[in-house]
Amino acid sequence: MNRDLREIKSMDCCNFWKQRRYAGGPREECGVFGIYGHEDAANLTYFGLYALQHRGQESAGIVTSDGKNVQEYKAMGLVSEVFHESRLRDLKGHLAVGHVRYSTTGSSVLQNAQPFCVNHAGSTFAVAHNGNLVNAHQIRAELEAYGSIFQTTMDSEIIVHLLAKSWRKGIDEAIYQTMNLIRGAYSVLMLTEKALIGFRDPLGFRPLCIGRMSNGAYVLASETCALDLIQAEFVRDVERGEVVIIDENGLRSFAAMQAEKRANCIFEFIYFARPDSNIFGRNVYSFRKALGAALIREITVDADYVMPFPDSGNYAAVGYAQAAGLPLELAVIRNHYVGRTFIQPSQSLRDFGVRIKLNPVKDTIRGKRVVIIEDSIIRGTTTVTRVKAIREAGAREISMLVSCPPTRYPCFYGIDFSTKGELIAAKKSVEEIRQFLELDALHYLSLEAMVEASGSNSDRFCMACFNGKYPTGINEHVGKFSFE
Ligand code: SF4
Repeated sequence: MNRDLREIKSMDCCNFWKQRRYAGGPREECGVFGIYGHEDAANLTYFGLYALQHRGQESAGIVTSDGKNVQEYKAMGLVSEVFHESRLRDLKGHLAVGHVRYSTTGSSVLQNAQPFCVNHAGSTFAVAHNGNLVNAHQIRAELEAYGSIFQTTMDSEIIVHLLAKSWRKGIDEAIYQTMNLIRGAYSVLMLTEKALIGFRDPLGFRPLCIGRMSNGAYVLASETCALDLIQAEFVRDVERGEVVIIDENGLRSFAAMQAEKRANCIFEFIYFARPDSNIFGRNVYSFRKALGAALIREITVDADYVMPFPDSGNYAAVGYAQAAGLPLELAVIRNHYVGRTFIQPSQSLRDFGVRIKLNPVKDTIRGKRVVIIEDSIIRGTTTVTRVKAIREAGAREISMLVSCPPTRYPCFYGIDFSTKGELIAAKKSVEEIRQFLELDALHYLSLEAMVEASGSNSDRFCMACFNGKYPTGINEHVGKFSFE
């Protein structure tokens, strides 16, 4: 393997990434993309990761293979910052996997960037993981007790160690034995010198789909928006518990694990996935609109118009406005060019961080009774500043309708709210939140209405952050920095 391509950037990125991370709402934990059978594998992976950038903005990496030699490059930053033409030209091969990371286990440092590439028993393989393992602590402790040495502080490295332990039994058996031991959320892509492999946890927390290009190349990706960009046709989702192996003989798959229940993360629909994606068999845009429309069955507000905080509230706001027969105004404008030049303001200017991204249209807001549609309220810190800006713009009345129930419980499956203390709804009643946000009215969509809007049964989803019913065992004492 050519490791020369790996660049360790010496700059201390930690502060910058922390600032970027807490500038908005909850964050996703990663996006994965892989392709087999195309001479431009690295370039297409670059575009695939570009489409999945919303799932992780801290680091990006691509590993390629030409059937013999494996090459990798990863660094901190956005996909467009990490890769440029000559770097992609150096990543040769017809087979590639890529990863964009938002850290949910382990700090945001290059050491923890993925794909994670290793040499083992004369082979090279790379792993890219989306999700969080709930028994990582226990497995890592056991592995370390028998002498395993870990290079990172990520739960994903455990998958690499377990694969290596069973490697000599063949790839099918190695994956099966690994899946048999790990618990939690995982949509994993793997690259060997000769194959692209995908596997998904038996409960199906995170999405993973299969696509095909007109030249026959196979694609695996977190979301279908990545297929659209490279003009690949959607074939199907990777089933929960399924292993898909793509090599010179084509695609084969087997069911490694089975579970009676499903646990598709409903928050993917509410917030994380791109609205132009189809995940878990449903379009995200239409789901969000349905959530907004469902609000009207629970509450009507006497208002002049409906408005979202862009972009995440846009789609539920369209649904609510159409159902309520109210005009929709885009009364807050988003600056799309907030990037690396962003400097975190001092404490005395703390509102500046939100204002640089969103600015109210004062002439549209002054003297009006507005109903704001929010997709979720996690910590409440961003929302309070945004509401204050609408009040200062002269709104006469501000109501807020949230298109999901209060988020009262932490997520242990890879979303960035892993402690109760972070969640405003875990500490305050709805009335207390209304007072904290200085709203005239506040209403959250009920759990029942959310499920009804999905068009499916409640047993299909993980809704643990709303109802505390975790689909797997959890360890509440394990957090993001547990391995540090
Ligand atoms: S706890 Fe919430 S965010 Fe986490 S997987 Fe379940 S539904 Fe998704």
